Amino acid sequence: MLALKLAVRNVWRWVGMVHSRADASEMDAADELARFRDQFHRPEPGLVYLDGNSLGMLPAAAVARAHEVIVAQWGQRLIRSWDEGWLDLPGQVGDRLGTALLGAAPGQVLVSDSTTVNLYKLAAAALDARADRSVIVTSAGEFPTDRYVLAGLAAARGLELRQVAGGPEPLTAAALESHVDDDTAVVVLSHVDYRSAAIADLAGITALAHRHGALMLWDLSHSAGALPVGLDAAGVDLAVGCSYKYLNGGPGAPAYLYVRRAHQGLLRQPIWGWFGQREQFTMGPVYDPEPDVGQFQAGTPPIVGLSIVDVGVALLAEAGVPRLRAKALALGSLLVDLYEEWLVPLGFRLASPRDAAARGSHVALAHPDGRLLRDRLVARAQVVPDFRMPDQLRFGLAPLTTSFTDVWDAMDRLRRLAEPAH
Ligand SMILES: *Cc1c(COP(=O)(O)O)cnc(C)c1O
Repeated sequence: MLALKLAVRNVWRWVGMVHSRADASEMDAADELARFRDQFHRPEPGLVYLDGNSLGMLPAAAVARAHEVIVAQWGQRLIRSWDEGWLDLPGQVGDRLGTALLGAAPGQVLVSDSTTVNLYKLAAAALDARADRSVIVTSAGEFPTDRYVLAGLAAARGLELRQVAGGPEPLTAAALESHVDDDTAVVVLSHVDYRSAAIADLAGITALAHRHGALMLWDLSHSAGALPVGLDAAGVDLAVGCSYKYLNGGPGAPAYLYVRRAHQGLLRQPIWGWFGQREQFTMGPVYDPEPDVGQFQAGTPPIVGLSIVDVGVALLAEAGVPRLRAKALALGSLLVDLYEEWLVPLGFRLASPRDAAARGSHVALAHPDGRLLRDRLVARAQVVPDFRMPDQLRFGLAPLTTSFTDVWDAMDRLRRLAEPAH
């Protein structure tokens, strides 16, 4: 934490002092993480890519790694590769990811399946472990796949899916207090809201769930790789997350799951697959699951995708969470400063928390013509942000691949497009 504070203070000196594009360039020159930008494929000069929180950019090393896995491992070594490293990869990459980015000691994180499937596996395991309870608590503003999976589980088991109203402000234990009770089996929430970037109180809400004997399952899709998570320290039971956003794992990259060590061997996931089987290759007559996190695998892991996740995680691990968070804070503050100066008069509204400490690594700006402006940014201004219904432009500030001049250029081009003359 001290390292984080120092790093924040260093970049912080600059923020609020940026009055020109040249000032933004100076911030890039002083940026300790600037060198990472060159390690990513740049498709076209001048492109400002602010959607790394939806699909992270391509690390150059991913191309080399994919080539090695496909040509040398698959092509040359064929099936021998399973014993020469492939079988260990889900746990190995999981441990790297867990220790570097999630605050999770080894043996608790696995890279497997999609976020949707992992959420289903872990939520079902939690419900089985609290079979005498009848309520699942989540937020009405939760990412769609999470709400749908939970609604499906609730419908199949005759449970109540209780949805707390979600707004642009961070979720707190106090706001959830009246929704979580002794009939709650599991609470499922995103650490960082996919729309507003509001950071939920991970430790406080986990403690609230535990006070009522419920299990806590966090979705880290919009937080891991951009800010500190601290799963072990907060006593989190279960977590899932996506690896093609800040982790740069590539389209459809396998996701990850976390099962706290204390629950391993006790929780049982619903897909009884052969990759979760103890002594898998004895091909035994009955399902006898691994006693550790390995049980949460189902079928054959996607080795090429998994190898690329490893590359993305290695880059983020090298940068380190304190530096990633410090840069993200500085990028976000620059964006909000420019919004206040240029965009407020043009009818924009901040749809993320104003307080940088309460905000993840993206900033949402609402405008009545939001969708049209996004289309014009992409078609005419070489700026790629995201858009979320009904009116929000979402600017992802992935700290490894975003520069301060990117933020300056995006806001400058946006204000020109939004000016009445257009
Ligand atoms: C991106 C994201 C997902 C993605 O789920 P997939 O199974 O990879 O399609 C799930 N949950 C949240 C919160 C996300 O942001």
